[in-house]
Amino acid sequence: MTSRLLTNIGELLTNDSSRVDETPVGRVLDAAIVVDEERVLWVGRGADAPAADEYYDARGAAVVPGFVDSHTHLIFAGERSGEFEARMAGERYDGGGIANTVAATRAASDEQLREQSNARLAALRAGGVTTVEVKSGYALDVDGEARLVRLAKEITAEVTFLGAHVVPREFAADRDGYVALVAGEMMTRCASAKWTDVFCDVGAFDVDEARTVLEAGRANGHSLRLHANQIADIGAVALAVETDCASVDHCTYLSDPDVERLAGSDTVATLLPGAEFSTRSPYPSGRRLLDAGVKVALATDCNPGTSYVTSMSFVIALAVREMGLSVDEALWAATRGGAAALRREDIGHLEVGARCDLVILNAPRVAHLAYRPGSSLIREVWRSESGEH
Ligand SMILES: [Zn+2]
Repeated sequence: MTSRLLTNIGELLTNDSSRVDETPVGRVLDAAIVVDEERVLWVGRGADAPAADEYYDARGAAVVPGFVDSHTHLIFAGERSGEFEARMAGERYDGGGIANTVAATRAASDEQLREQSNARLAALRAGGVTTVEVKSGYALDVDGEARLVRLAKEITAEVTFLGAHVVPREFAADRDGYVALVAGEMMTRCASAKWTDVFCDVGAFDVDEARTVLEAGRANGHSLRLHANQIADIGAVALAVETDCASVDHCTYLSDPDVERLAGSDTVATLLPGAEFSTRSPYPSGRRLLDAGVKVALATDCNPGTSYVTSMSFVIALAVREMGLSVDEALWAATRGGAAALRREDIGHLEVGARCDLVILNAPRVAHLAYRPGSSLIREVWRSESGEH
């Protein structure tokens, strides 16, 4: 192992609340950090830094933990810009466009899917994402979903089985048959995923159907997460809390009892402002959730229909501008919040022993991420070589 001292950091966010400023982001000014190829070895003021094998001068830049993008649909074929243009011209999103992506994804070879997904992965990485969650859900048949899980595992350890994304056309007259297939043979074939997820909303799956799939996922050894309340409130948040989902994602429409439920639970509310942006929907209030004591994460929801977003900086800027988060709260949500949504303790922060996943900004202060939206502010991304992400 080679130790490397990154020094002359203008502003370092560690997400270690025991740090001097006693805020959740653990801010250290005039900071330094020592890492090896895998872990953080030391953090503190530059003046106190120990010797190391190698030196790297941050030249006054801000440094933050690597972004944890805890919600993506990275593996798909084709694109749906025409649908976006139509929606911007006034057509309301009803969830029907997923079938187009399913047809394109089924028709694509492994190599075509790898090539298209890796281009999106490269964009996420260049934008500072060091851990990414990837869902299946654009094949919706047994062999196809198993293939998407296999391809997702080439990218990340955080693979989610989303056979219950929508009911495919061939099962339109037999919803029960499709739910049974997802919870049965498809689940078994997708056993190597880590998570089970369901799109529990109007136009997708109702609460009883979602519960059936989540329970099958748990029986199969998966941990659980849920798409909920993007289009309407049909009671999905209560289901997420009841089944101990690590995260309930979207939360665009939340009742007061749902906010209370989340505050009293270990379920993270993952906000996906790229979806509201791309569907011209009202943004949920992140402020309301934080003030109630709910743990909040931010993610891209990268998908071809409702959020073709690969920039966590953009997501942070939207959360600050449109959802009432402070810059520090948005940074925490995009890092430690994402880690909590994946129930990971080793990422999303820069305490000693954490993975050395960090981002050096092209800016002296973290606030520039929201203050200069659309600018390229990621100078360098360091990522641990340790095991799987
Ligand atoms: Zn999604």
